[in-house]
Amino acid sequence: MADVAGNNFDIVILGGGSGGYACALRAVQLGKSVALIEKGKLGGTCLHTGCIPTKALLHSAEVADLSREGDKYGIKSTFDGVDMPAVNAYKDGVIDRLYKGLQGLIKSGGITVVEGEGKLVDPKTVEVNGERYTGTNVVLATGSVSRTLGLDIGGRVITSSEALTMSEVPDKVVIIGGSVIGVEFASVWKSFGADVTIIEGLPTLIPLEDPSLSKQLERAFRKRKINFKTGVKFSSVEQTETGVTVSLEDGTTIDTDLVLVAVGRGPNSAGMGYEEAGITVDRGWVPTNERLATNVDGVFAVGDLVPGLQLAHRGFAHGIFVAEEIAGLNPQPVIDSGIPRVTYCDPEIASVGLTEPQAREKYGDDKVEIQDYNLGGNGKSQILGTAGSVKLVREKDGPIVGVHMIGARYGEQVGEASLMVNWEAYPEDVAQFIHAHPTQNEALGEAALALAGKPLHSHA
Ligand SMILES: Cc1cc2nc3c(=O)[nH]c(=O)nc-3n(C[C@H](O)[C@H](O)[C@H](O)COP(=O)(O)OP(=O)(O)OC[C@H]3O[C@@H](n4cnc5c(N)ncnc54)[C@H](O)[C@@H]3O)c2cc1C
Repeated sequence: MADVAGNNFDIVILGGGSGGYACALRAVQLGKSVALIEKGKLGGTCLHTGCIPTKALLHSAEVADLSREGDKYGIKSTFDGVDMPAVNAYKDGVIDRLYKGLQGLIKSGGITVVEGEGKLVDPKTVEVNGERYTGTNVVLATGSVSRTLGLDIGGRVITSSEALTMSEVPDKVVIIGGSVIGVEFASVWKSFGADVTIIEGLPTLIPLEDPSLSKQLERAFRKRKINFKTGVKFSSVEQTETGVTVSLEDGTTIDTDLVLVAVGRGPNSAGMGYEEAGITVDRGWVPTNERLATNVDGVFAVGDLVPGLQLAHRGFAHGIFVAEEIAGLNPQPVIDSGIPRVTYCDPEIASVGLTEPQAREKYGDDKVEIQDYNLGGNGKSQILGTAGSVKLVREKDGPIVGVHMIGARYGEQVGEASLMVNWEAYPEDVAQFIHAHPTQNEALGEAALALAGKPLHSHA
Protein backbone atom coordinates (compact mmCIF):
# COMPACT_ATOMS: atom_id res chain seq x y z
CA MET A 1 0.00 0.00 0.00
CA ALA A 2 1.14 3.52 -0.67
CA ASP A 3 2.08 6.01 2.01
CA VAL A 4 -1.36 7.52 2.51
CA ALA A 5 -0.31 9.64 5.48
CA GLY A 6 2.11 11.55 3.29
CA ASN A 7 -0.61 12.19 0.65
CA ASN A 8 0.94 9.60 -1.64
CA PHE A 9 -1.52 7.16 -3.19
CA ASP A 10 -1.57 4.43 -5.78
CA ILE A 11 -4.24 6.40 -7.64
CA VAL A 12 -5.31 10.03 -7.46
CA ILE A 13 -8.64 10.64 -9.19
CA LEU A 14 -9.68 14.16 -10.16
CA GLY A 15 -13.51 14.30 -10.23
CA GLY A 16 -16.01 12.20 -8.25
CA GLY A 17 -18.74 11.67 -10.88
CA SER A 18 -19.77 8.40 -12.51
CA GLY A 19 -16.34 7.78 -14.05
CA GLY A 20 -14.25 8.91 -11.08
CA TYR A 21 -16.15 7.20 -8.27
CA ALA A 22 -16.53 3.92 -10.20
CA CYS A 23 -12.76 3.90 -10.67
CA ALA A 24 -12.24 4.57 -6.95
CA LEU A 25 -14.62 1.80 -5.83
CA ARG A 26 -13.06 -0.83 -8.12
CA ALA A 27 -9.51 0.26 -7.28
CA VAL A 28 -9.97 -0.21 -3.52
CA GLN A 29 -11.54 -3.64 -4.16
CA LEU A 30 -8.25 -4.45 -5.88
CA GLY A 31 -6.19 -3.32 -2.89
CA LYS A 32 -5.14 0.09 -4.21
CA SER A 33 -5.00 3.24 -2.10
CA VAL A 34 -7.11 6.00 -3.62
CA ALA A 35 -7.61 9.75 -3.21
CA LEU A 36 -10.82 10.97 -4.82
CA ILE A 37 -10.93 14.74 -5.32
CA GLU A 38 -14.31 16.39 -5.74
CA LYS A 39 -15.19 20.10 -5.71
CA GLY A 40 -18.95 19.61 -5.61
CA LYS A 41 -20.88 16.51 -4.62
CA LEU A 42 -19.84 12.89 -5.06
CA GLY A 43 -21.98 11.41 -7.82
CA GLY A 44 -21.40 14.33 -10.18
CA THR A 45 -23.70 15.34 -13.00
CA CYS A 46 -25.56 12.05 -13.28
CA LEU A 47 -26.77 11.90 -9.70
CA HIS A 48 -27.32 15.60 -8.98
CA THR A 49 -28.11 17.40 -12.26
CA GLY A 50 -28.45 14.69 -14.93
CA CYS A 51 -29.80 11.16 -15.19
CA ILE A 52 -31.55 10.81 -11.84
CA PRO A 53 -33.37 14.16 -11.49
CA THR A 54 -34.52 14.13 -15.14
CA LYS A 55 -35.90 10.62 -14.82
CA ALA A 56 -37.72 11.56 -11.60
CA LEU A 57 -39.35 14.48 -13.46
CA LEU A 58 -40.27 12.12 -16.30
CA HIS A 59 -41.92 9.80 -13.81
CA SER A 60 -43.98 12.68 -12.39
CA ALA A 61 -44.87 13.52 -16.00
CA GLU A 62 -46.07 9.95 -16.56
CA VAL A 63 -48.27 10.19 -13.46
CA ALA A 64 -49.71 13.47 -14.79
CA ASP A 65 -50.56 11.80 -18.11
CA LEU A 66 -52.07 8.77 -16.41
CA SER A 67 -54.27 10.98 -14.26
CA ARG A 68 -55.55 12.66 -17.45
CA GLU A 69 -56.13 9.33 -19.20
CA GLY A 70 -57.93 7.48 -16.42
CA ASP A 71 -61.15 7.30 -18.45
CA LYS A 72 -59.39 5.28 -21.12
CA TYR A 73 -58.86 2.51 -18.57
CA GLY A 74 -62.18 2.88 -16.82
CA ILE A 75 -60.75 4.75 -13.85
CA LYS A 76 -62.23 8.03 -12.70
CA SER A 77 -59.36 10.49 -12.26
CA THR A 78 -58.65 14.10 -13.13
CA PHE A 79 -55.54 16.14 -13.66
CA ASP A 80 -55.75 19.08 -11.31
CA GLY A 81 -52.34 20.60 -11.94
CA VAL A 82 -48.68 20.32 -11.04
CA ASP A 83 -47.32 21.23 -7.62
CA MET A 84 -43.71 21.95 -8.60
CA PRO A 85 -42.37 22.26 -5.02
CA ALA A 86 -43.82 18.79 -4.32
CA VAL A 87 -42.40 17.42 -7.58
CA ASN A 88 -39.02 18.82 -6.60
CA ALA A 89 -39.29 17.37 -3.08
CA TYR A 90 -39.98 13.91 -4.55
CA LYS A 91 -37.08 14.28 -7.00
CA ASP A 92 -34.70 15.57 -4.31
CA GLY A 93 -35.73 12.73 -2.00
CA VAL A 94 -34.65 10.20 -4.62
CA ILE A 95 -31.32 12.00 -5.09
CA ASP A 96 -30.74 12.27 -1.32
CA ARG A 97 -31.27 8.55 -0.74
CA LEU A 98 -28.91 7.60 -3.55
CA TYR A 99 -26.36 10.23 -2.45
CA LYS A 100 -26.34 8.87 1.13
CA GLY A 101 -25.91 5.34 -0.22
CA LEU A 102 -23.02 6.41 -2.42
CA GLN A 103 -21.30 8.28 0.41
CA GLY A 104 -21.63 5.14 2.55
CA LEU A 105 -20.08 2.98 -0.18
CA ILE A 106 -17.18 5.37 -0.65
CA LYS A 107 -16.57 5.61 3.10
CA SER A 108 -16.73 1.89 3.78
CA GLY A 109 -14.38 1.30 0.84
CA GLY A 110 -11.64 3.26 2.64
CA ILE A 111 -11.33 5.82 -0.15
CA THR A 112 -9.78 9.15 0.89
CA VAL A 113 -12.18 11.84 -0.27
CA VAL A 114 -10.63 15.28 -0.69
CA GLU A 115 -13.14 18.12 -0.89
CA GLY A 116 -12.13 21.04 -3.07
CA GLU A 117 -11.14 22.14 -6.53
CA GLY A 118 -8.13 20.27 -7.83
CA LYS A 119 -5.52 21.30 -10.37
CA LEU A 120 -2.94 19.06 -11.99
CA VAL A 121 0.47 20.56 -11.21
CA ASP A 122 2.51 17.76 -12.78
CA PRO A 123 1.56 14.37 -14.26
CA LYS A 124 1.60 12.72 -10.83
CA THR A 125 0.33 15.50 -8.59
CA VAL A 126 -2.96 17.28 -7.98
CA GLU A 127 -3.10 20.36 -5.78
CA VAL A 128 -6.22 21.09 -3.73
CA ASN A 129 -6.52 24.06 -1.38
CA GLY A 130 -2.74 24.42 -1.32
CA GLU A 131 -2.15 20.76 -0.43
CA ARG A 132 -0.57 18.28 -2.85
CA TYR A 133 -1.74 14.71 -3.51
CA THR A 134 0.58 12.43 -5.44
CA GLY A 135 -0.40 9.27 -7.27
CA THR A 136 1.61 6.56 -8.98
CA ASN A 137 -1.27 6.92 -11.44
CA VAL A 138 -3.60 9.86 -12.01
CA VAL A 139 -7.10 9.56 -13.46
CA LEU A 140 -8.74 12.63 -15.01
CA ALA A 141 -12.52 12.48 -14.55
CA THR A 142 -13.72 16.08 -14.62
CA GLY A 143 -16.68 15.41 -16.93
CA SER A 144 -18.56 17.88 -19.08
CA VAL A 145 -20.56 21.12 -18.99
CA SER A 146 -23.52 22.42 -21.01
CA ARG A 147 -22.67 24.04 -24.32
CA THR A 148 -24.37 27.38 -24.87
CA LEU A 149 -23.43 28.35 -28.48
CA GLY A 150 -22.48 31.81 -27.23
CA LEU A 151 -25.89 32.49 -25.65
CA ASP A 152 -25.91 34.32 -22.32
CA ILE A 153 -27.41 32.01 -19.73
CA GLY A 154 -29.50 33.83 -17.13
CA GLY A 155 -33.05 35.03 -16.53
CA ARG A 156 -35.36 33.31 -19.02
CA VAL A 157 -32.56 31.56 -20.92
CA ILE A 158 -31.51 28.44 -19.06
CA THR A 159 -29.61 25.14 -19.35
CA SER A 160 -30.69 21.73 -18.07
CA SER A 161 -29.27 22.50 -14.60
CA GLU A 162 -31.66 25.41 -14.04
CA ALA A 163 -34.52 23.47 -15.67
CA LEU A 164 -34.25 20.94 -12.84
CA THR A 165 -34.99 23.44 -10.09
CA MET A 166 -37.96 25.35 -11.50
CA SER A 167 -40.61 26.41 -9.02
CA GLU A 168 -43.31 26.72 -11.70
CA VAL A 169 -44.27 25.15 -15.00
CA PRO A 170 -43.71 27.68 -17.81
CA ASP A 171 -46.74 28.50 -20.00
CA LYS A 172 -44.62 28.52 -23.15
CA VAL A 173 -41.15 27.18 -23.67
CA VAL A 174 -38.78 26.93 -26.63
CA ILE A 175 -36.15 24.21 -26.49
CA ILE A 176 -33.10 24.74 -28.67
CA GLY A 177 -31.82 21.26 -29.53
CA GLY A 178 -33.85 18.15 -30.38
CA SER A 179 -31.45 15.53 -29.13
CA VAL A 180 -31.67 13.49 -25.92
CA ILE A 181 -31.82 16.26 -23.29
CA GLY A 182 -34.08 18.46 -25.46
CA VAL A 183 -36.71 15.81 -26.16
CA GLU A 184 -36.71 14.62 -22.53
CA PHE A 185 -37.52 18.11 -21.23
CA ALA A 186 -40.04 18.62 -24.06
CA SER A 187 -41.80 15.47 -22.91
CA VAL A 188 -41.83 16.53 -19.23
CA TRP A 189 -43.07 20.06 -19.82
CA LYS A 190 -45.77 18.97 -22.27
CA SER A 191 -47.09 16.45 -19.72
CA PHE A 192 -46.98 19.21 -17.10
CA GLY A 193 -49.20 21.38 -19.35
CA ALA A 194 -46.76 23.74 -21.11
CA ASP A 195 -46.86 24.76 -24.75
CA VAL A 196 -43.55 23.37 -26.07
CA THR A 197 -41.60 24.06 -29.28
CA ILE A 198 -38.34 22.33 -30.15
CA ILE A 199 -35.87 23.85 -32.63
CA GLU A 200 -33.41 21.37 -34.16
CA GLY A 201 -30.79 22.37 -36.74
CA LEU A 202 -30.47 18.88 -38.23
CA PRO A 203 -33.25 17.39 -40.39
CA THR A 204 -34.81 15.19 -37.65
CA LEU A 205 -35.35 14.95 -33.92
CA ILE A 206 -32.88 12.60 -32.13
CA PRO A 207 -30.68 12.77 -35.25
CA LEU A 208 -28.11 10.28 -33.99
CA GLU A 209 -30.63 7.43 -33.74
CA ASP A 210 -31.94 5.11 -36.46
CA PRO A 211 -34.10 7.17 -38.88
CA SER A 212 -37.12 4.92 -38.20
CA LEU A 213 -37.02 5.95 -34.52
CA SER A 214 -36.80 9.65 -35.40
CA LYS A 215 -39.81 9.29 -37.68
CA GLN A 216 -41.88 7.49 -35.04
CA LEU A 217 -40.89 9.94 -32.30
CA GLU A 218 -41.89 12.86 -34.51
CA ARG A 219 -45.24 11.18 -35.18
CA ALA A 220 -45.78 10.58 -31.45
CA PHE A 221 -44.78 14.18 -30.58
CA ARG A 222 -47.18 15.54 -33.23
CA LYS A 223 -49.93 13.47 -31.63
CA ARG A 224 -48.98 14.87 -28.24
CA LYS A 225 -49.05 18.40 -29.75
CA ILE A 226 -45.38 19.01 -29.01
CA ASN A 227 -44.34 21.51 -31.70
CA PHE A 228 -41.01 21.12 -33.42
CA LYS A 229 -39.11 22.67 -36.29
CA THR A 230 -36.26 20.66 -37.77
CA GLY A 231 -33.59 21.62 -40.29
CA VAL A 232 -33.50 25.20 -39.05
CA LYS A 233 -31.07 26.97 -36.73
CA PHE A 234 -31.76 29.87 -34.41
CA SER A 235 -30.15 33.18 -35.28
CA SER A 236 -30.72 35.09 -32.05
CA VAL A 237 -32.35 34.95 -28.65
CA GLU A 238 -33.44 38.21 -27.06
CA GLN A 239 -34.84 38.70 -23.58
CA THR A 240 -37.42 41.42 -22.97
CA GLU A 241 -39.14 42.56 -19.76
CA THR A 242 -41.89 40.01 -20.21
CA GLY A 243 -40.47 37.18 -22.27
CA VAL A 244 -37.94 35.98 -24.81
CA THR A 245 -37.95 36.22 -28.61
CA VAL A 246 -36.23 33.46 -30.53
CA SER A 247 -35.40 34.32 -34.15
CA LEU A 248 -34.72 31.53 -36.61
CA GLU A 249 -32.57 31.56 -39.72
CA ASP A 250 -35.68 30.99 -41.87
CA GLY A 251 -36.91 34.44 -40.82
CA THR A 252 -39.57 33.32 -38.32
CA THR A 253 -39.68 34.48 -34.72
CA ILE A 254 -41.19 32.82 -31.68
CA ASP A 255 -42.22 34.70 -28.54
CA THR A 256 -41.96 32.57 -25.46
CA ASP A 257 -41.63 32.62 -21.67
CA LEU A 258 -38.53 30.49 -21.39
CA VAL A 259 -35.72 29.12 -23.56
CA LEU A 260 -33.90 25.92 -22.70
CA VAL A 261 -30.53 25.65 -24.41
CA ALA A 262 -29.97 21.92 -24.95
CA VAL A 263 -27.33 21.83 -27.65
CA GLY A 264 -25.06 19.20 -26.14
CA ARG A 265 -22.24 19.17 -23.65
CA GLY A 266 -18.59 20.05 -24.00
CA PRO A 267 -15.52 18.93 -22.04
CA ASN A 268 -14.79 20.33 -18.59
CA SER A 269 -11.03 20.84 -18.60
CA ALA A 270 -10.35 24.59 -18.75
CA GLY A 271 -7.83 25.85 -16.22
CA MET A 272 -7.11 22.42 -14.75
CA GLY A 273 -3.45 22.27 -15.75
CA TYR A 274 -3.78 19.36 -18.17
CA GLU A 275 -1.92 20.93 -21.10
CA GLU A 276 0.72 22.45 -18.84
CA ALA A 277 1.41 18.93 -17.49
CA GLY A 278 2.06 17.78 -21.07
CA ILE A 279 -1.27 16.05 -21.65
CA THR A 280 -2.66 16.33 -25.17
CA VAL A 281 -5.94 18.25 -25.13
CA ASP A 282 -8.06 18.54 -28.27
CA ARG A 283 -10.58 21.41 -28.14
CA GLY A 284 -10.92 20.72 -24.44
CA TRP A 285 -11.35 16.95 -24.76
CA VAL A 286 -8.70 14.56 -23.46
CA PRO A 287 -8.13 11.97 -26.18
CA THR A 288 -7.00 8.51 -25.06
CA ASN A 289 -6.08 5.24 -26.68
CA GLU A 290 -8.38 2.22 -26.44
CA ARG A 291 -6.94 1.52 -22.97
CA LEU A 292 -7.97 5.01 -21.80
CA ALA A 293 -4.34 6.06 -21.40
CA THR A 294 -3.45 9.65 -22.32
CA ASN A 295 -0.21 10.49 -24.10
CA VAL A 296 1.50 10.87 -20.68
CA ASP A 297 2.60 7.67 -18.94
CA GLY A 298 0.53 6.88 -15.84
CA VAL A 299 -2.23 9.40 -16.64
CA PHE A 300 -5.65 8.06 -17.68
CA ALA A 301 -8.92 9.79 -18.55
CA VAL A 302 -12.49 8.50 -18.15
CA GLY A 303 -16.11 9.47 -18.77
CA ASP A 304 -17.46 12.52 -20.59
CA LEU A 305 -13.98 14.10 -20.77
CA VAL A 306 -13.00 11.44 -23.32
CA PRO A 307 -14.54 12.09 -26.77
CA GLY A 308 -17.44 9.73 -27.49
CA LEU A 309 -20.85 8.88 -26.05
CA GLN A 310 -21.71 10.96 -22.99
CA LEU A 311 -23.44 8.42 -20.80
CA ALA A 312 -23.16 7.60 -17.11
CA HIS A 313 -22.82 3.86 -17.71
CA ARG A 314 -19.95 4.54 -20.12
CA GLY A 315 -18.33 6.49 -17.29
CA PHE A 316 -18.87 3.58 -14.86
CA ALA A 317 -17.38 1.14 -17.39
CA HIS A 318 -14.41 3.45 -18.05
CA GLY A 319 -13.73 3.81 -14.32
CA ILE A 320 -13.82 0.07 -13.70
CA PHE A 321 -11.64 -0.53 -16.75
CA VAL A 322 -8.93 1.91 -15.62
CA ALA A 323 -8.83 0.50 -12.07
CA GLU A 324 -8.39 -3.01 -13.47
CA GLU A 325 -5.84 -1.82 -16.02
CA ILE A 326 -3.75 -0.19 -13.29
CA ALA A 327 -4.05 -3.39 -11.21
CA GLY A 328 -2.68 -5.38 -14.17
CA LEU A 329 -5.85 -7.40 -14.88
CA ASN A 330 -5.73 -6.67 -18.63
CA PRO A 331 -9.50 -5.90 -18.93
CA GLN A 332 -11.46 -5.82 -22.20
CA PRO A 333 -11.64 -2.26 -23.64
CA VAL A 334 -14.92 -0.36 -23.51
CA ILE A 335 -16.15 0.04 -27.09
CA ASP A 336 -18.67 2.84 -27.70
CA SER A 337 -20.60 0.95 -30.40
CA GLY A 338 -21.58 -1.72 -27.87
CA ILE A 339 -22.95 0.73 -25.28
CA PRO A 340 -26.75 0.81 -24.89
CA ARG A 341 -28.47 4.20 -25.26
CA VAL A 342 -31.82 5.23 -23.81
CA THR A 343 -33.81 8.43 -24.35
CA TYR A 344 -36.49 8.61 -21.66
CA CYS A 345 -39.11 10.81 -23.31
CA ASP A 346 -42.62 9.44 -23.92
CA PRO A 347 -42.47 7.23 -25.92
CA GLU A 348 -39.08 5.90 -24.77
CA ILE A 349 -36.30 5.14 -27.19
CA ALA A 350 -33.69 2.45 -26.62
CA SER A 351 -30.96 1.27 -28.93
CA VAL A 352 -27.61 -0.45 -29.18
CA GLY A 353 -25.23 -1.13 -32.04
CA LEU A 354 -25.40 -0.03 -35.66
CA THR A 355 -28.33 1.88 -37.17
CA GLU A 356 -29.67 0.58 -40.48
CA PRO A 357 -27.76 3.20 -42.54
CA GLN A 358 -24.54 2.45 -40.61
CA ALA A 359 -24.96 -1.30 -41.19
CA ARG A 360 -25.63 -0.75 -44.92
CA GLU A 361 -22.53 1.38 -45.16
CA LYS A 362 -20.42 -1.18 -43.29
CA TYR A 363 -21.62 -4.42 -44.92
CA GLY A 364 -23.15 -3.25 -48.23
CA ASP A 365 -26.83 -2.83 -49.12
CA ASP A 366 -27.48 -6.46 -50.02
CA LYS A 367 -25.68 -7.80 -46.94
CA VAL A 368 -28.10 -6.40 -44.37
CA GLU A 369 -31.44 -7.82 -43.20
CA ILE A 370 -34.02 -5.88 -41.20
CA GLN A 371 -36.99 -6.90 -39.10
CA ASP A 372 -39.21 -4.10 -37.85
CA TYR A 373 -41.71 -5.64 -35.45
CA ASN A 374 -44.73 -3.40 -34.82
CA LEU A 375 -45.94 -3.23 -31.22
CA GLY A 376 -49.47 -3.53 -32.55
CA GLY A 377 -48.87 -7.29 -32.23
CA ASN A 378 -47.55 -7.16 -28.65
CA GLY A 379 -50.17 -7.87 -25.99
CA LYS A 380 -48.53 -5.92 -23.16
CA SER A 381 -47.89 -2.87 -25.35
CA GLN A 382 -51.57 -2.90 -26.28
CA ILE A 383 -52.53 -3.15 -22.60
CA LEU A 384 -50.33 -0.12 -21.87
CA GLY A 385 -51.77 1.68 -24.89
CA THR A 386 -48.42 2.35 -26.54
CA ALA A 387 -47.49 2.40 -30.22
CA GLY A 388 -43.98 1.69 -31.44
CA SER A 389 -41.67 -0.94 -32.82
CA VAL A 390 -38.65 -3.15 -32.23
CA LYS A 391 -36.24 -3.19 -35.13
CA LEU A 392 -33.44 -5.70 -35.49
CA VAL A 393 -30.58 -5.11 -37.91
CA ARG A 394 -28.66 -8.21 -38.91
CA GLU A 395 -25.64 -8.84 -41.09
CA LYS A 396 -27.07 -11.15 -43.79
CA ASP A 397 -26.75 -14.75 -42.55
CA GLY A 398 -24.78 -13.32 -39.62
CA PRO A 399 -25.32 -11.86 -36.16
CA ILE A 400 -27.63 -9.10 -34.96
CA VAL A 401 -25.60 -5.88 -35.16
CA GLY A 402 -28.20 -3.33 -34.08
CA VAL A 403 -31.42 -3.10 -32.06
CA HIS A 404 -33.67 0.00 -32.16
CA MET A 405 -36.80 0.22 -30.02
CA ILE A 406 -39.49 2.81 -29.37
CA GLY A 407 -42.54 2.58 -27.13
CA ALA A 408 -43.60 3.25 -23.54
CA ARG A 409 -41.08 1.79 -21.02
CA TYR A 410 -38.82 0.37 -23.76
CA GLY A 411 -35.70 1.58 -21.93
CA GLU A 412 -36.13 -1.42 -19.64
CA GLN A 413 -35.70 -3.77 -22.61
CA VAL A 414 -32.27 -2.54 -23.60
CA GLY A 415 -30.46 -5.13 -21.46
CA GLU A 416 -31.36 -8.07 -23.67
CA ALA A 417 -30.77 -5.96 -26.78
CA SER A 418 -27.29 -5.19 -25.49
CA LEU A 419 -26.52 -8.88 -24.89
CA MET A 420 -27.71 -9.71 -28.42
CA VAL A 421 -25.39 -7.19 -30.03
CA ASN A 422 -22.40 -7.62 -27.75
CA TRP A 423 -22.54 -11.43 -27.78
CA GLU A 424 -23.05 -11.28 -31.57
CA ALA A 425 -26.17 -13.40 -31.26
CA TYR A 426 -27.84 -14.86 -34.34
CA PRO A 427 -31.62 -14.38 -34.61
CA GLU A 428 -31.89 -18.17 -34.77
CA ASP A 429 -30.17 -18.38 -31.33
CA VAL A 430 -32.40 -15.73 -29.77
CA ALA A 431 -35.51 -17.36 -31.27
CA GLN A 432 -34.71 -20.49 -29.21
CA PHE A 433 -35.06 -18.60 -25.93
CA ILE A 434 -38.58 -18.28 -24.62
CA HIS A 435 -39.79 -14.76 -23.87
CA ALA A 436 -42.52 -14.51 -21.21
CA HIS A 437 -46.05 -13.65 -22.30
CA PRO A 438 -47.45 -11.03 -22.07
CA THR A 439 -44.40 -8.80 -21.69
CA GLN A 440 -43.01 -6.02 -23.82
CA ASN A 441 -39.82 -8.06 -23.80
CA GLU A 442 -41.66 -10.56 -25.95
CA ALA A 443 -41.42 -8.11 -28.87
CA LEU A 444 -37.66 -8.73 -28.97
CA GLY A 445 -38.29 -12.47 -29.17
CA GLU A 446 -40.95 -11.98 -31.86
CA ALA A 447 -38.60 -9.82 -33.94
CA ALA A 448 -35.92 -12.53 -33.67
CA LEU A 449 -38.44 -15.25 -34.59
CA ALA A 450 -39.45 -13.28 -37.67
CA LEU A 451 -35.84 -12.64 -38.66
CA ALA A 452 -35.12 -16.35 -38.24
CA GLY A 453 -37.88 -17.01 -40.79
CA LYS A 454 -40.58 -18.25 -38.39
CA PRO A 455 -42.74 -15.28 -37.38
CA LEU A 456 -45.45 -15.85 -34.77
CA HIS A 457 -47.54 -12.70 -34.25
CA SER A 458 -46.33 -10.91 -37.37
CA HIS A 459 -46.47 -11.37 -41.11
CA ALA A 460 -43.65 -13.20 -42.87
C1 LIG B 1 -29.80 16.67 -18.05
C2 LIG B 1 -28.92 15.45 -18.21
C3 LIG B 1 -29.50 14.20 -18.26
C4 LIG B 1 -28.71 13.07 -18.40
N1 LIG B 1 -29.32 11.85 -18.44
C5 LIG B 1 -28.57 10.74 -18.58
C6 LIG B 1 -29.18 9.46 -18.57
O1 LIG B 1 -30.40 9.32 -18.44
N2 LIG B 1 -28.38 8.38 -18.71
C7 LIG B 1 -27.03 8.49 -18.87
O2 LIG B 1 -26.36 7.47 -19.00
N3 LIG B 1 -26.43 9.69 -18.87
C8 LIG B 1 -27.16 10.82 -18.72
N4 LIG B 1 -26.54 12.03 -18.69
C9 LIG B 1 -25.07 12.10 -18.86
C10 LIG B 1 -24.33 11.74 -17.57
O3 LIG B 1 -24.76 12.59 -16.54
C11 LIG B 1 -22.84 11.86 -17.82
O4 LIG B 1 -22.48 11.06 -18.92
C12 LIG B 1 -22.03 11.43 -16.61
O5 LIG B 1 -22.35 12.18 -15.48
C13 LIG B 1 -20.53 11.58 -16.92
O6 LIG B 1 -19.77 11.19 -15.81
P1 LIG B 1 -18.33 11.82 -15.58
O7 LIG B 1 -17.79 11.16 -14.34
O8 LIG B 1 -17.53 11.78 -16.80
O9 LIG B 1 -18.57 13.37 -15.31
P2 LIG B 1 -19.47 14.15 -14.17
O10 LIG B 1 -20.56 13.29 -13.73
O11 LIG B 1 -19.73 15.44 -14.78
O12 LIG B 1 -18.45 14.24 -12.98
C14 LIG B 1 -17.35 15.10 -12.99
C15 LIG B 1 -17.10 15.52 -11.55
O13 LIG B 1 -15.86 16.19 -11.49
C16 LIG B 1 -15.98 17.27 -10.59
N5 LIG B 1 -14.94 18.23 -10.96
C17 LIG B 1 -14.81 18.89 -12.12
N6 LIG B 1 -13.69 19.64 -12.09
C18 LIG B 1 -13.12 19.45 -10.89
C19 LIG B 1 -11.95 19.96 -10.26
N7 LIG B 1 -11.12 20.80 -10.88
N8 LIG B 1 -11.67 19.55 -9.01
C20 LIG B 1 -12.48 18.66 -8.36
N9 LIG B 1 -13.61 18.17 -8.90
C21 LIG B 1 -13.91 18.56 -10.15
C22 LIG B 1 -17.39 17.78 -10.82
O14 LIG B 1 -17.85 18.51 -9.70
C23 LIG B 1 -18.15 16.48 -11.02
O15 LIG B 1 -18.67 15.98 -9.81
C24 LIG B 1 -27.29 13.20 -18.51
C25 LIG B 1 -26.71 14.45 -18.43
C26 LIG B 1 -27.50 15.56 -18.28
C27 LIG B 1 -26.84 16.93 -18.19
